[in-house]
Amino acid sequence: MGRDFDFDFIVIGSGFGGSVSAHRLTEKGYKVAVMEMGRRWTPENLPHTNWSLARWLWRPELGLRGFFNMRFFRHATILHGCAVGGGSITYANTLLVPPEKVWSIGPWAGLADWQAEMPRHYQTASRMLGVVENRILGPADHLLKTAAEQTGVGNTFYRTSVGVFQGSEGDPGGKTFADPYFGGEGPQRTTCIGCGGCMIGCRHGAKNSLDMNYLYLAEKHGARIFAETRVVDVRPLDGSGDGLAGYEVRTVSSTSRLGKSKAARRFTCRGVVFSASSLGTMELLFHLKRQGALPRLSPRIGQRVCTNSESLIGVRIPGCEDDMSKGVAIGSGIYIDQNTHIEATRYPAGSDAMFALATILTGGRPGPARVGLWLRNLLAGLLLHPIKTFRLLRPRGWARESVILLCMQALEGHIDMVWKRPWFRPWRRTLVSRGPRIPTFIPQANEFAQKLAKVSGGTAMSMLPEILFNVPGTAHCLGGCVIAGSPALGVVDSRHRVFGYKNMYVCDGSVVAANLGVNPSLTITALAERAMSYLPNASEHKWEDLAAQA
Ligand SMILES: Cc1cc2nc3c(=O)[nH]c(=O)nc-3n(C[C@H](O)[C@H](O)[C@H](O)COP(=O)(O)OP(=O)(O)OC[C@H]3O[C@@H](n4cnc5c(N)ncnc54)[C@H](O)[C@@H]3O)c2cc1C
Ligand code: SF4
Repeated sequence: MGRDFDFDFIVIGSGFGGSVSAHRLTEKGYKVAVMEMGRRWTPENLPHTNWSLARWLWRPELGLRGFFNMRFFRHATILHGCAVGGGSITYANTLLVPPEKVWSIGPWAGLADWQAEMPRHYQTASRMLGVVENRILGPADHLLKTAAEQTGVGNTFYRTSVGVFQGSEGDPGGKTFADPYFGGEGPQRTTCIGCGGCMIGCRHGAKNSLDMNYLYLAEKHGARIFAETRVVDVRPLDGSGDGLAGYEVRTVSSTSRLGKSKAARRFTCRGVVFSASSLGTMELLFHLKRQGALPRLSPRIGQRVCTNSESLIGVRIPGCEDDMSKGVAIGSGIYIDQNTHIEATRYPAGSDAMFALATILTGGRPGPARVGLWLRNLLAGLLLHPIKTFRLLRPRGWARESVILLCMQALEGHIDMVWKRPWFRPWRRTLVSRGPRIPTFIPQANEFAQKLAKVSGGTAMSMLPEILFNVPGTAHCLGGCVIAGSPALGVVDSRHRVFGYKNMYVCDGSVVAANLGVNPSLTITALAERAMSYLPNASEHKWEDLAAQA
């Protein structure tokens, strides 16, 4: 090609898809850079509780430079991570294989023999992320089991599969060992102490976040990671419409207070992997298509966005003797029917900031009637049981006294995102959700929460935005740049190659075309493993030939 490139591949985002891509590309001999908008986290700078808002929440324009973000859309409140290691720094370590039926839902159905191919990639992903059956059951897990038994579904109780370095059952943890996973190539690990702190970042060296495996190995073998670096432009070099001549990637600092233009940089590369998560990749691709940098992108960007049909509810047991925050963040789960899955979830003691989103459980028809019912319940509680209601709503002790129930359903259903100027911010385009409303609560899950409340002597809780704005919350936004057979149906082909461009891939949750009904990170990892397995080693690579396949 006769040109010097800064890198062979630039990977945008360092979450599950990005870290796998960076590691496998580096292993194959490519020169790789990873651009990551979030910060690097270590046990020294992670927050102790989520009251350290500046180190927990990500809103750099407000001086909040943490690793957890919430985005508010008309159809859903979407929770996601932003860090070197992507969502793995804040996630709850739960790594589950979805039911086989998901491969026959949506436009990826029939494009590959998924059922035959995926098991080996799930195996590799599980080995790399150090997945074990959870050996630390806390009081919240025991409560879930008791309530499941009393509801007649005790046989479905299971311990979650988690990416955590754990000692044997009953071991108090806290013992440090030389790398137990990668034959001495990886970092030392310390056994889990069951403090429940996984979602505010593990300060104890037990959580197998991506900076401890895929990213760690990628960096060790030469990948360069640019933290606090946001990609704002990607376009083919030399006006080659399809990227055969390589790409130019422009970045700005995501945290600099000097003004974005001062930190602007330009890089060149032969290929690009978009791994900025479902929301991040949609946002970038919409922007790049709209401004003419990548005009050949499929018009299907933003379609088939899945929220995993989720609902967050819970039970608070004021004054309980047991500490509900003990265990790993998600220690166990049950199935209350064949489509509805509930996991017992927790924050560590002292991390009570989520109290602001919790209130008395309220069902009923969404809208003003439901808000009215909620106000009535609240007022009745304050008048009839003032002390109990006050103890339910007070911030202090929220994490120690609460079992959060994460409810997911593997059902067909999705919304779309469009790129437009919302009425409340007409000067800038952004993602706007549209489509049928997503149910804000799952009646059978609410019933189960009430059962658990009865068993424990606690009070069932709903998420406030679900009641006030009829908007459900989800930590598992997927899709928007889905795998399909043609650009008329999706954005990438079954090997994650972007339709219309050469040497351009999408490897993250945005390619997933179905509600998985389980936490999705293992699937995102396994899909990225599969996509990368099709690339040849750098020494055997003829860029023009590879490009010709796309
Ligand atoms: C509180 C919480 C708990 C969760 N628990 C679980 C769990 O237990 N199990 C599970 O399977 N899943 C869990 N999830 C979901 C999980 O975190 C995501 O599904 C997963 O991280 C998605 O992987 P990804 O590769 O698509 O992107 P991500 O991991 O989100 O990584 C994308 C990265 O790209 C970066 N980025 C975005 N735009 C740009 C840009 N323009 N330039 C540079 N960088 C950019 C972002 O900062 C981010 O770090 C949880 C999520 C949350 C919020
Ligand atoms: S429970 Fe505590 S020690 Fe174990 S992985 Fe989570 S944060 Fe780390």
